Amino acid sequence: QFPFGRRLPCDIYWHGVSFHDSNIFSGQVNKFPGMTETVRKITLSRAMRTMRDLFPLEYNFYPRSWILPEELPLFVAEVRTMKDSNPSWKPTFIVKPDGGCQGDGIYLIKDPSDIRLTGSIQSRPAVVQEYICKPLLVDKLKFDIRLYVLLKSLEPLEIYIAKDGLSRFCTEPYQEPTLKNLHQVFMHLTNYSLNIHSGNFIHSASANTGSKRTFSSILCRLSSRGADVKKLWSDIISLVIKTIIALTPELKVYYQSDIPAGKPGPTCFQILGFDILLMKDLKPVLLEVNANPSMRIEHEQELSPGVFENVPSPVDEKVKVAVIRDTLRLVDPQKKKRKDTHCILFLRDSLLRAVSAFCIIWSMKDKQHKHHSLKLSLKLKFYLKLGLCQSPEQAPGASEAPPDAAPGPEAALPSLCLKQVFPKYARHFSYLRLVDRVAALFIRFLGVKGTTKLGPTGFRTFIRNCKLSNSNFSMAAVDILYIDITRRWNSMGIDHKESGMCLQAFVEAFFCLAQKKYKALPLHKQVLSLLELCECRLAALHGKRLVWGCG
Ligand code: ADP
Repeated sequence: QFPFGRRLPCDIYWHGVSFHDSNIFSGQVNKFPGMTETVRKITLSRAMRTMRDLFPLEYNFYPRSWILPEELPLFVAEVRTMKDSNPSWKPTFIVKPDGGCQGDGIYLIKDPSDIRLTGSIQSRPAVVQEYICKPLLVDKLKFDIRLYVLLKSLEPLEIYIAKDGLSRFCTEPYQEPTLKNLHQVFMHLTNYSLNIHSGNFIHSASANTGSKRTFSSILCRLSSRGADVKKLWSDIISLVIKTIIALTPELKVYYQSDIPAGKPGPTCFQILGFDILLMKDLKPVLLEVNANPSMRIEHEQELSPGVFENVPSPVDEKVKVAVIRDTLRLVDPQKKKRKDTHCILFLRDSLLRAVSAFCIIWSMKDKQHKHHSLKLSLKLKFYLKLGLCQSPEQAPGASEAPPDAAPGPEAALPSLCLKQVFPKYARHFSYLRLVDRVAALFIRFLGVKGTTKLGPTGFRTFIRNCKLSNSNFSMAAVDILYIDITRRWNSMGIDHKESGMCLQAFVEAFFCLAQKKYKALPLHKQVLSLLELCECRLAALHGKRLVWGCG
C-alpha cells in the first residue's frame, strides 16, 4: 500500500476505485479507464438498446428500459400502446436512480403516472425498467446471482467467468407485486445491504442455507429437481459475452483517450460483478454490471446492542478468494515471462534444427546437379516446417525439467476457478461485434489523441474519406446531421466536459446513414453493408497513400 503516493513502478497496480492515477507507464492496472461510467445504469441501458435494435432476439435478456426524464413521454406512450393491444397485461415497473447502488432510491410502480416527478428526477436521472414478476424462487424466496467476470483484455477480447458465484436472498416470502406489497423491499429487492437489516436475515456457515449461499449450491438443488443445469450455464455464458460485447465500443473510446496507441502505458484488466436474476423458466436476466464489486470476506455482527464486530463469512471467502487468486494467476507477469522464455527457447531449438537441416542440404547441393535444387528447396521448406511447427509440448526436451528443478508455484494451487469463455466461444458471437467496428471508425477520425468526442471536421473527413456524400446527400446535409444529433446527445449527456459528438451519437448517425443507403434490408444488414463499404474505401485510400508515399 502506498497511502502517501507511490514511488516505484509496479508489475500490478491494484486500485481501489478507478483506473485514474497519473504517471503509470507500465505494468497492469486492475481497472479499465471509463468502466465505471460505461456500466452506469443509463449507459448500460443505452448500450443494450443499441444492441437490441440490431439483434432483437440475441439481446432479449435485458429488461425493456427507458431513460428518465428524457424518455418519459416515450415510456408513457409505449406502455399505453402495449396495454391497448393486450388489456390483460398488468405490468409492474422498477425505477432505479442512475449511479445508485445497494438498492438506494429504488421503487416499484404499477403505472407510468406513479413516477415521482419531484426535483430529484431532474437532478438525478434514472432508468425505469420492466419488473420481472415471476422470478425463480428457492424456499419461497426471491434471490439473485452475483457472478464474477474477469475482463482480462479488451484488444484482443479475453473474458473469464468464475465457476461459482453468490446467491443473495430476500428475507420475506415472495409474492407477485400488488399495490399492497410494492413497497416491501425485503420481498422484492435482493440486495444484501438491505436484507441484512431484516430480522429474518440468516448468517450461515454452510454454503447451502441462509440468506447468502453459493450459486453452485443452487445449481445442485436445481439439478436434483431435474433442471437442465448445463443449458442454464451456457445461457449465462452467452449473456455475459453479449453484455461485454455491448460494452466494448465505449470502453475502447475511453481506452484510446487514456492510453493512446503507440504510447507507453499500462495494460488493464478488471473483475466485474454481474447481477443476474433467474426467471421461473430458468431464463437468466441481466440486472446490472458492477465495476467495483465488493470483495469483502467478512460481515458485521452485532454482539450486543450497538456493538459490532467483523466476523469471517465462509461463503464470501470460498467464492471471492478464488476469484482474486486466479485473477492474479492469470495476469501474473512472471508467468508471462516464463512463457516467453519457453517460447524463445523453443524457437531457438526449432531454428537450430532448421538451420542444421539447411546446412546438410546445402552441402549435398554442392555435390549435386543443378536440377536437384528445386527438390532441395522443397525439402528445406519441409524441414523448416517441421522445426517450427512442432508444439512446445512435442518439442524434444520440453517436458524434461532439470532434475533439481523445484515444482513451479502453480503446482501447489487448486485448479483455476476462472473459465475462459472468450475467445474460446468467439466464433458463436463475433457476428455481434458490429458496434465495435463502428467504434473503430469513430476512433480513427477522432484525430487529436486524448479526446472522446468527434469534432465537425472529423465527421466531415469520415464522410469524405468513405465517399458517403453525393447529390442526394450534400456536405451541407452532412453538417446538419452532425449538428442535430450532437446537440441532442449533448443536451441529455452527463459528460459536459468536452464538446463534440460522443460515440453513441456517432452510432446513431451511422445507423441513420445505413438506413438511408440500404433501405430494404433489416437494420443489422444495413449497418453491416455500410461498414463493409467504409472499411473497403478506407483500405483503398490507405493503399493509395502508401503507393504515393513510396512514389
Ligand atoms: P442497485 O445497484 O441499487 O443494487 P439493481 O439494479 O441491482 O440496483 O437493483 C436492485 C435489486 O432490485 C436487484 O438486486 C433485484 O433484486 C431487484 N431488481 C432490479 N431490477 C429488477 C427487475 N427488472 N426485475 C425484478 N427485480 C429487479
